[in-house]
Amino acid sequence: MSGKSIFRDAGRHFLDFLFPRTCLGCGSALGKKSTYCYICPDCLREIEWIHNHFCPRCGAPDVENGDVCDECEKKTFSFRRNRSLYVYSGLGRQVIHELKYRNGRHLLPDIGRMANEARLDLGNTVLVPVPLHWWRRWLRGFNQSELICGHLAKIYGCKVCPLLCRNRHTRRQFGLGARARWRNVGNAFQVNERVRAKMKIAKNFKITLVDDIFTTGATMEACAKVLVAAGFGHVEALTLARA
Ligand SMILES: [Zn+2]
Ligand SMILES: [Zn+2]
Repeated sequence: MSGKSIFRDAGRHFLDFLFPRTCLGCGSALGKKSTYCYICPDCLREIEWIHNHFCPRCGAPDVENGDVCDECEKKTFSFRRNRSLYVYSGLGRQVIHELKYRNGRHLLPDIGRMANEARLDLGNTVLVPVPLHWWRRWLRGFNQSELICGHLAKIYGCKVCPLLCRNRHTRRQFGLGARARWRNVGNAFQVNERVRAKMKIAKNFKITLVDDIFTTGATMEACAKVLVAAGFGHVEALTLARA
């Protein structure tokens, strides 16, 4: 063990002693041995992972191998596929709420472990966060998609590029019906050509759009559409949860 990691472990144990870590789901104290920092093994078992039998297009769970789900039979997306780590319910939903509304950056290492648990394989790709309007980003102080990208990039060794910007403010998608969601985000995004040129993102690179939740796919589609129109040939989506 290196000197640096001994110090880091000692520091963590000291912090655990001062501020004992508790489970986000049930509030029980977490021992030194727990693999996750803020999720106990019992609560972890409640998470419905999506690692097999999912729709190859939209990532919906419980679809027979190889088949697309009923929804995807009726529509097409500009991205090749969406991969979600787990079903948006219970503790999985709580993780996202904590990250988004309570500045839960401390959950990022656990989100990294969740990606591993869901057998995420990113391959050689550029991670692109779904942007927030500057006003909402300013109010919240951060963009959760950027945080997720940053952490996954460290684990999987990918590049992160803020390739898109939001050119108009939109209502929150939460609480809107399917049709209103598609209308709400249409034409809300554009490719930031300055960033693309500066970071030398070639159009043949595989792009993976990253967001927290996939509901109807309206936001992902609005983002993917502008990337495809700009000449990017391979666009995929990655989300923490599938609603
Ligand atoms: Zn728990
Ligand atoms: Zn589907």
